[in-house]
Amino acid sequence: MEVLFTPWRFSYLTSPKSGQPPGCIFCIAATADDDRETLTIFRGERALVMLNKYPYTNGHLMVAPVAHHALLTESDDAALRALIRLTAEAQRVLSDVYRPDGFNVGMNFGQIAGAGVADHYHMHIVPRWAGDSNFMTVTARTRLVPEDLGATFDKLRPHFAKLPRDFNGE
Ligand SMILES: [Zn+2]
Repeated sequence: MEVLFTPWRFSYLTSPKSGQPPGCIFCIAATADDDRETLTIFRGERALVMLNKYPYTNGHLMVAPVAHHALLTESDDAALRALIRLTAEAQRVLSDVYRPDGFNVGMNFGQIAGAGVADHYHMHIVPRWAGDSNFMTVTARTRLVPEDLGATFDKLRPHFAKLPRDFNGE
């Protein structure tokens, strides 16, 4: 396992089920019936919120536009507003639920910049706690995330279930 000290360099690895063609995880999440299977905690008209399947820390979320776009410049203003307002909402919910000491929030464009899914852009929201990177250093090749994703899903989804599908922060 690669050891990473910044979430921006973390490659998101897709793991399609056998027999299922590999696809864009964000497009699959945008149309899926099974939120738990796709780790989708909010599916809006313009943007969605997912758990990262390979989280850097507990509560590592991703916000992506529904449209399969590689660049911010491809999104219209409504999609951009939905994206940043959902990012703010994600930060608010994570603050309430996990009480982190800080956050990394950011995006990678292009594989050279560390984007695991380069053709569908997405915002990472990573809660941070004092000492978590020290822990990473000590444990070298191990990345330990104590809480399982099902528990994270159950904790966070009710907070997003309150939002309307056309949520854009207005
Ligand atoms: Zn896509």
